[in-house]
Amino acid sequence: MTEHSQHNIGVLVFAEQEEGVQADVSLELLSKARELAAKLGKKVAAALPGHNVGGLAPALITYGADTVFVAEDPALQHYTTVPYAEVVSDIIRACKPEIVLFGASLIGRDLAPRVASILRTGLTADCTDLQIGDYEDKSGSYKDLLLQIRPAFGGNIIATIVTPRHRPQMATVREGVMQLAPPDAARTGEIVPVDVKLGNTHELVRVVERLKAEKKVNLKGASVIVAGGAGVGGPDGFELIRELARTLGGEVGASRAAVDAGYIGKEHQVGQTGTTVRPKVYIACGISGQVQHRAGMDDAGKIIAINNDPGAPIFSIAHYGIVGDLFQVVPMLIEAYKQK
Ligand code: FAD
Repeated sequence: MTEHSQHNIGVLVFAEQEEGVQADVSLELLSKARELAAKLGKKVAAALPGHNVGGLAPALITYGADTVFVAEDPALQHYTTVPYAEVVSDIIRACKPEIVLFGASLIGRDLAPRVASILRTGLTADCTDLQIGDYEDKSGSYKDLLLQIRPAFGGNIIATIVTPRHRPQMATVREGVMQLAPPDAARTGEIVPVDVKLGNTHELVRVVERLKAEKKVNLKGASVIVAGGAGVGGPDGFELIRELARTLGGEVGASRAAVDAGYIGKEHQVGQTGTTVRPKVYIACGISGQVQHRAGMDDAGKIIAINNDPGAPIFSIAHYGIVGDLFQVVPMLIEAYKQK
C-alpha cells in the first residue's frame, strides 16, 4: 500500500460494519478521536474494510473523520480474522497514526489483539476513558501519550496504562462508553481507496453460512430503564420489575448479581461487564450500587434508587432515593403511574 503519512493522522478508528451496516461504536469512537486528535494538533482517519462498503465513507466524515481509507475486496465481505488484520495493519503502516481505536465488540476484540501482535505494539482492552497526557519513568519523559484508563483488579482501582515506546498506541472501548456527537453535514474529508493485497491465508477460513439471532433487549436505546438487583430475590420478583418497566414504556436492566443468580438473562446486565447506558431515567431496585454497576449507568439523566438499606452506595449517586422494601414501593409506583 502506498505511503499515507502525509495525511498527518493522529487517531485512526477501525470503522466496523457488518453487511454494510455501520457499528454505532465506531461513530462514538470518531467523536472521541476528534477530541484526542485536536490535542495532538493532528487529523482523524477511519479504516473501512469490507466489500461494497464505500457508500458508508461520507457518513464517517460527518461524524469526524478527515480521511477514510476504504479497503474493498470480496474476501472482506464477511469478517474473518486474518484478512481483516492484514488489511488494517497495512493501513496503519501506511498512514502511521499515533493512536488506533477499536470498538470492544465481538469483531474488535478479535481483531485488535491480532493487529497489535502484527505491529508489535501494546493494546489496552475495555478502556472507560481516554486522554492525552505526559508520562515520565526512568527511561525518559514522554509528551502527549494516550492515557488508556480502565478499571483493574476487579474494579478496585482505576489504572492508567501508557504505551511510551511503541506505536501506534492502541485501545478498545465498549459500545456506549464514549458519547456520540451529532453528525455535521458541513464537514468535508477525503476518501482514499486502498489497494488490497491479500496473501492466500484468507482461504484458510471460509464463511459458509451466517445465522443471526434477533436482539430482543435494547438497553442502549431505552430512555427509561427499570433495573433489578439481588434484592429482587428471584425470577418471580423480576415480574414486578418488568411490570414497572412496561408501565413506563421502558426496558428491564439488571445487576450482575441478579444475572449470575439466574434471575434474568445476561443481555439485561448493566455495568462494567454489561451494557453502558444513558437513559433519561434509571430506576434501580434492590441494587446496592457497587462501582462496577455504577460504571454502566451513572450518566443517566435521573437516577431513582429503591433500597431497604439507607447506607447503600447507590444513594450517593441517586437524584431521588426511596428507603423501603421494593415489594411495597414498586407496586405503589405502578399504581401511581397507572392512575396518571
Ligand atoms: P448486592 O450487592 O447483593 O445488593 C443487593 C441490594 O439489594 C442491597 O443493597 C440490599 O440492601 C438491597 N435489598 C435487598 N432486599 C431488598 C428489598 N426487599 N427491597 C429493597 N432493597 C433490597 N456488577 C454489575 O451490576 N454489572 C457489571 O457489569 C459488573 N461487572 C463486574 C466486573 C468485575 C470484574 C467484578 C469483580 C464485579 C462486577 N460486578 C458487576 C459485580 C459487582 O461488584 C456487584 O457484586 C454487583 O453489582 C452487586 O449486585 P447487586 O447490587 O444486585 O447485589
